[in-house]
Amino acid sequence: MSQFKLHDVRLFCLPNCFFAAVLFSAGALAAAQEQSGSAKAVSKGETNDQPNMEIRKVGLVVHGGAGTISRSEMTPQREREYRAGLERAMTAGYEILKRGGSSLDAAEAAVRMLEDDPHFNAGKGAVFTSIGTNEMDAAVMDGKTLSAGAVASLKHIKNPVSLARLVMEKSGHVMMDGEGAEAFAKENGVQVLPDQKYFFTQERWEALQKVKAAEKSGGGGKKYIITDQDRHGTVGAVALDQNGNLAAATSTGGTTNKRAGRVGDSPVIGAGTYANNATCAVSATGDGEYFVRATVAHDVSALMEYRGMSLTEAAQSVLDKVAKLGGSGGLIAIDRQGNIALPFNTSGMYRGYVDPNGKFVVEIYK
Ligand code: ASP
Repeated sequence: MSQFKLHDVRLFCLPNCFFAAVLFSAGALAAAQEQSGSAKAVSKGETNDQPNMEIRKVGLVVHGGAGTISRSEMTPQREREYRAGLERAMTAGYEILKRGGSSLDAAEAAVRMLEDDPHFNAGKGAVFTSIGTNEMDAAVMDGKTLSAGAVASLKHIKNPVSLARLVMEKSGHVMMDGEGAEAFAKENGVQVLPDQKYFFTQERWEALQKVKAAEKSGGGGKKYIITDQDRHGTVGAVALDQNGNLAAATSTGGTTNKRAGRVGDSPVIGAGTYANNATCAVSATGDGEYFVRATVAHDVSALMEYRGMSLTEAAQSVLDKVAKLGGSGGLIAIDRQGNIALPFNTSGMYRGYVDPNGKFVVEIYK
């Protein structure tokens, strides 16, 4: 599991003028340090080398799904494409954070990039249901206000994450699904596609045929090699902004061959998505049914809030709970100090974060 202290963003306050200089100091601390209590978050007033200096961190973590991802099945070209997709998402989010933008904007922007990328199971690259449709779920949560928005079973919206945000900000509700959600999108000027052609990708279509064939033959044995890549995936982002606000965003096409109308954990606030400035922001990925039953994202927060656990401990212990139920997957999380955690109990998880020097780190395998 990776864990770091993320960036220090120093705000220098001068008489009659205010300007922010963004310095990315090397504040990386290993997980072991935090666990041993030696990690120390640098906060307002702790340094005295500059008068009136506040130190603020920003942080960003993204994921593109967890599962069996083996090096042997990955071509160098494909790996480059996945990495580039994660980097594009981080660039979109990080540019916003560097400019002093909100964690909500950053998380949404990062997820939109991943939704537009056919490699990931969300938006453009969404998997197919058993009846050959694409049905997408997404959610956002603002850790400052505990406002949340979620959408489920969308069929004609290119960027479900942005509709989730609109639901949060304009609907007076938290969760909307299907036709009602799409009518709400239309009312608010969001493009509603006339059909589902945009979401067709040959690879996802073939995955559906493989999963169906394997099911028909009672598991398929060696005849059908079904990878987790074929079965599911999700994208997500968690961010910490200069104002100390946390946010989380998640978007998914769900699971290949799911029943029409099935909704997973991603749009369920507290299961696949959660953010609370008092604790952390979380976006999960994995076997949705288990993540819902284990209330994963809120549990990480609750263990920090009520048990005083560190982010690392809380994230791992919730993932262990999922494993005990029989589920697999992973999550990304960030706390207010900029600590991050990216645990997973599968052989891989597409993931990336911005290191303390502002460098993008992308990892796929264990
Ligand atoms: N959690 C998603 C779902 O069940 C799938 C995944 O993350 O792989 O819809």
